[in-house]
Amino acid sequence: MRTNLLKLNEHPIYAVQKHMASHLHYDFRLEWRGVLLSWAVPKGPSLDPAVKRLAMQTEDHPVGYSSFEGVIPAGQYGAGTVMLWDIGTWQPESADMDSALQEGEIRFTLQGKKLQGSWVLVRTRGFGKNPSRSAWLLIKHRDQYASQMDITQEEPRSVVSQRLLADIARDEGGDVESASKGDPGGKGRRATRAK
Ligand code: MN
Repeated sequence: MRTNLLKLNEHPIYAVQKHMASHLHYDFRLEWRGVLLSWAVPKGPSLDPAVKRLAMQTEDHPVGYSSFEGVIPAGQYGAGTVMLWDIGTWQPESADMDSALQEGEIRFTLQGKKLQGSWVLVRTRGFGKNPSRSAWLLIKHRDQYASQMDITQEEPRSVVSQRLLADIARDEGGDVESASKGDPGGKGRRATRAK
């Protein structure tokens, strides 16, 4: 009996962790070949297909990290408060995902609680001269899940605990004042609704 190894992993994990570190960002993660491919998205995802969100590729993470929510202690890499903002599964739309990754344009479908439907990550030139930290753009495709709704502002809470960043910091001994800057109305919010 022949087994296609990739079929053992028909529903790889998708996760977004909202992370108030030195700067607020959203860590966008896709499980692939035993790790979480990761991108830091400073403004978070947008459901508007006209909006392109900068996504800096970061180091792969262990798959188990996709369930983490809590506080990373001061002095450690990524110190700050982490919220599990969205969780689900994803499927490549590209027939050959490895080639697509190498070529810097991956199309995929998300089955999350907040993000769904068809998306693309495309690597850009001109940003991020360091190849280990390349710049990509995260863009929603036009489909029934596209929307003008500002998802990061409308749905700011944890998908697993319903907590805001400040709640997580308070519960777990983190920096509440810093964490609250990442919550709606916090000082970290941009005054203008940037597209
Ligand atoms: Mn991060």
